[in-house]
Amino acid sequence: MTVTVRFAPSPTGRIHIGNVRPALFNWLYAQKQGGSFILRFDDTDRERSTEEFAQSISEDLAWLGIKPDRVEKQSERFALYDAAAEKLKEAGLLYPCYETADELERRRNRARALGKPPVYDRAGLKYTDEQLEKFKEEGRTPHWRFKLPNHPEGDPFTFQRTEVHWDDVIRGRQTVDLASLSDPVLIRGDGTYLYTLPSIVDDADMGVTHVIRGEDHVANTGVQIAIFEALGAPVPFFGHHNLLTTASGEGLSKRSGALSISSLREAGYEPMAVCSLAVLTGTSHAVEPAANLEALAEMIDFTGISKSAAKFDPEDVGHLSAKIVHSLPFAEVKWRLETLGIEASEAFWNAVKENCSSIKDVTEWTPIAYGQITPVIAEEDRAFIAEAKELLPEEPWDETTWGTWTKAVKDKTGRKGKGLFMPLRQALTGLSHGPDLKSMLPLIGRQKTLDRLV
Ligand code: GLU
Repeated sequence: MTVTVRFAPSPTGRIHIGNVRPALFNWLYAQKQGGSFILRFDDTDRERSTEEFAQSISEDLAWLGIKPDRVEKQSERFALYDAAAEKLKEAGLLYPCYETADELERRRNRARALGKPPVYDRAGLKYTDEQLEKFKEEGRTPHWRFKLPNHPEGDPFTFQRTEVHWDDVIRGRQTVDLASLSDPVLIRGDGTYLYTLPSIVDDADMGVTHVIRGEDHVANTGVQIAIFEALGAPVPFFGHHNLLTTASGEGLSKRSGALSISSLREAGYEPMAVCSLAVLTGTSHAVEPAANLEALAEMIDFTGISKSAAKFDPEDVGHLSAKIVHSLPFAEVKWRLETLGIEASEAFWNAVKENCSSIKDVTEWTPIAYGQITPVIAEEDRAFIAEAKELLPEEPWDETTWGTWTKAVKDKTGRKGKGLFMPLRQALTGLSHGPDLKSMLPLIGRQKTLDRLV
């Protein structure tokens, strides 16, 4: 069996780190199995879906390193859904209902008050021809429900316990009793499809072998299996993973802008920080930056995903990102610096990387080595700085120069510790913190150093 998976976002907003979790579980699984990955836009909701959001989702996935083998849009596949709906109607499994939302609400409340489960009673199957004629005359259009196979043959009004099982590749064996569920609405009154039927039709048509998605879909799966079977389509494997939540247990809505992938990218975070956090949180692995997606693929094992919520701290994106930046070799960084318009040497990168939490942070340090800064010299340090200037060694300079120079300054002035180093740092860099001056001094060079010790 060739593994085929899909990530099926609705292009109704930007994707955030919580959406990256299913995207990557699918992508990494496909990579590991030599399978294929479909990006399928769930854009049947024409009002809320936009081409811009679809575009931004594609860009975000590309930035994370996900390259779909196939991209599809449900909005271009309505003929298939119509054909499936027709097939179900002909089989008497998709039937029209005319209740208003208020009516349904009232009925549910009544059922609850009587201590009965608020399951739809299939009143739609009992309309007389006159009633149907009247609805038509009134211009009412039906919504359509799928008749769940939870009743004895030929008697849809007697609900009987009907278990549907699946071996969830993440959660283990799952059971849903179809008699505990209302017949799902597949087509709304305005003729538009809810997510359920298009998703099933596409999974079947595209040969999806594994549906890996958030556990918020567990309840749908029993129903979906019944519809796959009604359509005579093979039922895929299902896996439902825990959802990322903040430490306080809050879910991440699509509108939680700060954690959107585009904002994390613009903030300069490393894609592997985002990927590692999105995938490893709530698993048996420590949340550490993985070297690349291949390494991450080796780490994931569906049975190692915890059953409880995957709580994470958004601040960790920054922590993991900084860890990655600190370990980046110059060869990997060179072109990235160039795209930021920075021409820097390997020695410079090695000097400043520990002081960068993102690659963009190098711009804080480039003026020190390559440009102009405003030296900071306190009035009471002027004489000290003048003495230090006198003692500045001749070039050539290397990593030992700082030590030689400051030793000479210490011997001459008697200053030591912070009193010795801080005024020199402030004069040379204009700042009170920053990279090791042992490495920075040779990059600044003698002339610029003299100019700053004014
Ligand atoms: N569009 C659905 C979602 O984003 C897809 C669910 C699924 O993977 O089946 O929740």
